[in-house]
Amino acid sequence: MDRKVSVLKFGGTSVGSGERIRQVAQIVARQAQQFEEDFPAVVVSAMAGVTDQLLRITRSITTGEFEASLREIDALNTKHHEAAEVVTSSPEEHSQLLATLEEAFTRFERDIERLRAARSNADELPLRTAAVASWGERLSVLLVAAAIRACGVPSEAVREEVIIIEMPRGEIPYVPGTVIGAEPLEAETRENAARLVAPLLARRVVPVMAGFIGRTHDGIVATLGRNGSDYSAAVIGAALDCKEVAIYTDVDGVLTADPRIVPNARLLPYLSYAEAAQLSWFGAKVLHPRTLVPLADRDVPVRVRNTFRPQTDGTIVGPVGEQQSAAATAITVRRHLALITVESRHLFGASESVEQIFSLAARANITPVATCSSSGQHLAFLVEEKAAASVVKLLQHDSENWKVTSRGGLAACACIGSGFTSNPLSPARAVTALAREHIPLITQGTSNQAILLVIQDRDSERALRALHRELVSPVIPLASRRRSYQKRREARLAQVNCW
Ligand code: ADP
Ligand code: ASP
Ligand code: MG
Repeated sequence: MDRKVSVLKFGGTSVGSGERIRQVAQIVARQAQQFEEDFPAVVVSAMAGVTDQLLRITRSITTGEFEASLREIDALNTKHHEAAEVVTSSPEEHSQLLATLEEAFTRFERDIERLRAARSNADELPLRTAAVASWGERLSVLLVAAAIRACGVPSEAVREEVIIIEMPRGEIPYVPGTVIGAEPLEAETRENAARLVAPLLARRVVPVMAGFIGRTHDGIVATLGRNGSDYSAAVIGAALDCKEVAIYTDVDGVLTADPRIVPNARLLPYLSYAEAAQLSWFGAKVLHPRTLVPLADRDVPVRVRNTFRPQTDGTIVGPVGEQQSAAATAITVRRHLALITVESRHLFGASESVEQIFSLAARANITPVATCSSSGQHLAFLVEEKAAASVVKLLQHDSENWKVTSRGGLAACACIGSGFTSNPLSPARAVTALAREHIPLITQGTSNQAILLVIQDRDSERALRALHRELVSPVIPLASRRRSYQKRREARLAQVNCW
């Protein structure tokens, strides 16, 4: 095919109803019809709330609350059928869509039956749960492809997982209401995409693919982890050698803070890969933290855009960010954290044990969110609060040489921006912003991209607003201040000369 390809990924709110799916279809159709634009390959999430609903169903089934699960399955059925009423235009397309949905629901119910049968088999439950959770995306591809066809553009739902995955090693524990986060395999996914997607692109048929899920060589389905559809779009984009990955969501792009907490947050037109990675790691839900992994090495830009305001340009995430300034680029907050402190019972030895401490945590599938401080005698790091008890147990069990303590109820505010972190006055400005609001600082950490302030979780929203107000508001860089001073001076002198 002569045109380059771009991946367009639409999140849960973007496909949250039949009307919204029609808006999505118009965006895709417009891009497909404009020959100067890249040809679209579409990746979609489940309709908003559907993955939560599917996981509630799996819980009810495993606890034997079958009535509750039937009610949820009914609601799910109604939601997709209501959307189907709106997305097609011709009676033939409509009845074809209904038939495909019926068939999909029959297969979905078969997976529900399998889960029910595996109820008392803890080994099978994680995989049976993943199979049920995959149906949100599998159903929405059917609706979205039908809606694109209704706009007069050939489109097909890809009814097979494009991403080839590898299951986590070792025993997979069953945690009710959660899904397995599997690893995509790059070379195998590229081969699979060439088999499933390239022929459609060659015929100029818009492929609509399920985000979030993949399957192993043996055909076992699992997910890339909660909120993983941004990441799956990036994996598919890399496999298709795409020119750009557009993440269509419900805000104008990446903003200087979460607009639900800071209403006057402003749009960032550019963001570097490194800044965006920090931003998502420290809590900005707008991008899944791993989204940039398959793309940054290839210099493929990610554009974050608003489905409901497609005329706006959004944010481009690429090798370079906004012009560096002494202001912070963005502030985020990652909530529900605990600070684990490991103290050597002898005066030294903690630093030699860092590797052992982190590999013990990794064995329990726990990734530290950040390391805050260390000395010869201690090491302090943040983990998600729900993992804290098992980290403490594991570390205490494994050595008599350490005293391990945990402090929960914490949050980490990240003040992001490479210009900001390189300014020696920035840490003091950040701490002062909190002090002005009487927000106690528990501890802090720094990297090249961010200054991290650990506070009590209950203060997190207030802290975010205070830090945004004090650190993000435009600071005129010294060079341009100097230029404007020069200009003012020249203007004054010019006036003097007139006399
Ligand atoms: P989708 O369903 O499209 O994947 P998400 O809910 O996962 O959307 O992500 C979009 C949401 O991310 C926005 O509605 C916004 O509230 C939140 N968000 C958090 N931090 C930021 C930020 N810095 N910039 C933009 N949005 C943010
Ligand atoms: N539907 C999945 C979830 O809710 C993936 C996603 O939307 O990103 O976790
Ligand atoms: Mg998302």
